[in-house]
Amino acid sequence: MDANEIRSAYLSLMAERGHTVIPRAPLVPKDDPTTLFTGSGMQPLLKYLLGAEHPSGKRLADSQTCLRSQDIEEVGDNRHTTFFEMLGNWSLGDYFKSEQIPLFWHFLTEVVGLDPNRIYVTVFSGDPANGIPRDDESADIWTELFTKAGVSADRVVLLTEEHGNEVGNQGARIAYYSDKNWWSRSGGPDTMPVGDPGGPDSEVFYYFPQVEHDTAFGKYPHQNSDGGQYMEIGNSVFMQYAKTVEGFAELPKLNVDYGGGLERIAAASIDSPDVYRISLLWPIVQKIEELSGVGYDDNTVAMRVIADHIRGAVFLAVDGVVPSNKEQGYVMRRLVRRAIRFAHQLGVQDNLLTQLVPVVADLYTEAYPEVAERRETVIAVLEKEERSFRRTLGKGLRELKRLGKTGETVTGKDLFKLSDTFGFPVELSAEEAVTRGMPMTVNWRAEFDGEIEAQRARSQASTKLGATVD
Ligand code: ATP
Ligand code: MG
Repeated sequence: MDANEIRSAYLSLMAERGHTVIPRAPLVPKDDPTTLFTGSGMQPLLKYLLGAEHPSGKRLADSQTCLRSQDIEEVGDNRHTTFFEMLGNWSLGDYFKSEQIPLFWHFLTEVVGLDPNRIYVTVFSGDPANGIPRDDESADIWTELFTKAGVSADRVVLLTEEHGNEVGNQGARIAYYSDKNWWSRSGGPDTMPVGDPGGPDSEVFYYFPQVEHDTAFGKYPHQNSDGGQYMEIGNSVFMQYAKTVEGFAELPKLNVDYGGGLERIAAASIDSPDVYRISLLWPIVQKIEELSGVGYDDNTVAMRVIADHIRGAVFLAVDGVVPSNKEQGYVMRRLVRRAIRFAHQLGVQDNLLTQLVPVVADLYTEAYPEVAERRETVIAVLEKEERSFRRTLGKGLRELKRLGKTGETVTGKDLFKLSDTFGFPVELSAEEAVTRGMPMTVNWRAEFDGEIEAQRARSQASTKLGATVD
């Protein structure tokens, strides 16, 4: 199954099982000034999970477009993208563990057709100090499903990632972890404020035996290791408890919040540990290969960055964001300019966006009609951003080279100049400096922010002066 087929199969299955399929929320959250982007399927539905009645009922499902600018540093690895889709289903006081876990299992093994032997899971180990029991209920459901499929279902108690790294999962199908398998809005059971809901979650991983475990991330592999063999493909949160002054009490209304990455499930379905090989990303990579005349295998990180960033920027433009110097617009600018910088390195000197944006748009036209509707605007917005950055890119790079030659420590003031004169997002200049091995002041970020502040004060003063002269 390709990624588009997986998305529609998931939504059809959920509809068959009595869920209302709701449209995705835009990437810029409505009425929520606390966060720049929609970063999960749960985020737009939080108030319903906290008790408000949803107009579409108690069973909901969607595919939510997400943007996690906090994952920008992770882009380049084989499984993180800043933009991705999260398949989600919710029970608002309706079904619970005994329906959710078999439903997800059915989707993975019967609908997508994943090999049950390659599926590994985690459950909550319990918190004796807070009187919260171990989630054996979920573990027992998993055991039954694995056993029926003829797969061994051994259990291991690992508690933390660190301990897991020391001892490994020893092949155990079901691993118990503590805080890693606890969901609340504010961390583990100890740090949650009284009144807040929380609960155990159960994560599902796909195992890639063809990947060699990277011991830089710990001696032995286990579900929650970053060593590369296990990729998290979905997570079911069971909102089961509320913290009270007397401790944890079972909630009168139990909710399920499930979210699973479409790209990762699609990667599992083609047995690829690299998400960029899926049908929603590979055509973008191929176009980059064509434009640059070089191959993915030798330029993996650069091509991943370009593909991811442009895809994210396209969806931001579809949702009405334009590149600017603040908030969502700034993140969009960072994505576009960083992609252009990487493309420049691969020898693509011009028209990256004109040529790449239509490829991205084509991939999403069927699933998201708004992509087709806004196609021309999106191309225009992104082309304009490329034109403006291309004008100064070469000069900025020469300035960086010059700075490097002086051997002097790069300061926030230098970075400010690169940003103000050449339009280099500060994070991009810092990244350049690091790759070029240039020494930087410890406080470059604070120094840079200080320069921005000073510039703002200067422009305010001149506006005031202008007002009195008029
Ligand atoms: P990871 O530990 O791999 O970063 P996460 O714990 O941040 O994942 P969740 O917040 O539980 O992930 O999100 C639910 C699902 O969304 C994950 O199981 C994964 O399949 C997917 N997902 C999360 N972050 C990304 C990302 N940056 N790119 C692609 N898929 C992602
Ligand atoms: Mg993450």
